[in-house]
Amino acid sequence: MGFTLPARHARGRVVRLGPVLDRILAAHDYPPAIRHLLAEALTITALIGSLLKDGDGQLTMQAQTENGIVDLLVCDYRAGELRGYVRHDAERLAMLGANPSLYALFGQGYLAITFDMASSGERYQGIVPLEGGSLAEACESYFAQSEQVPTLLRIAVRSDRQGAVAGGLLVQHLAEGEDGRQRLHVRMDHPEWEHVAVLAGSARHDELVDPDLSLEALIWRLFHEEGEVRVLPGAPLTRGCRCSIEHYQAVLAKFPEEDRAEMRNEAGLVIVDCAFCSRLFEISA
Ligand SMILES: [Zn+2]
Repeated sequence: MGFTLPARHARGRVVRLGPVLDRILAAHDYPPAIRHLLAEALTITALIGSLLKDGDGQLTMQAQTENGIVDLLVCDYRAGELRGYVRHDAERLAMLGANPSLYALFGQGYLAITFDMASSGERYQGIVPLEGGSLAEACESYFAQSEQVPTLLRIAVRSDRQGAVAGGLLVQHLAEGEDGRQRLHVRMDHPEWEHVAVLAGSARHDELVDPDLSLEALIWRLFHEEGEVRVLPGAPLTRGCRCSIEHYQAVLAKFPEEDRAEMRNEAGLVIVDCAFCSRLFEISA
């Protein structure tokens, strides 16, 4: 769900992932710390993805490092469809405590956020060092450094036997109503933004994941003292992947025959692995 605070030149998004999160996590057999990391990443991806104006555009978030316990995390969003996976070293992870820090998981890494615009075919990518106490903090610095947009992100994840729930809030300051234009510098101390950041920052962990508190009620609770709050419905979120036999056949058809011959196994099939679904496909190509 989206909202704007016109008088403060601020806009925001709130999401809550319930069964869709369980469906994505169910494709992988991850230990708790990695499930938590992926849930956080998917929530952020859903929030940033919902900022796309282009309905068929794609948002990809990728965190990467060379020698980290996690060496690759990928999530993407397209038209309400979410997917993601984490590549990690389970043995080294087992030696960490229950709540490893972002640095303990990744070491020196970087965060890349890519916007693919379907209508124009344009691609925009920003890359920043993976720094801060959490993925949410790293994304806040991405927006400050790469887009010069003051941004606040709050993410909460709760996981128990009934399943996982994640909630997220993103709020941004678009000074003078500018939308998407590059600014010369980022002003984090603008009085309008300081005010909005205090209100948004008061969102509590339990409110973000409370299934009995609707997203609209949460927005109202945070910003009810503002003169005007405009609420915009968001796209429903689903688990979505583009992997299918037909898709891989089409991809393989673009390779020269001699390359395809090298990829074939003894049975004459090409084995393709979808990391998002933890699934192998046998393609006759
Ligand atoms: Zn897949």
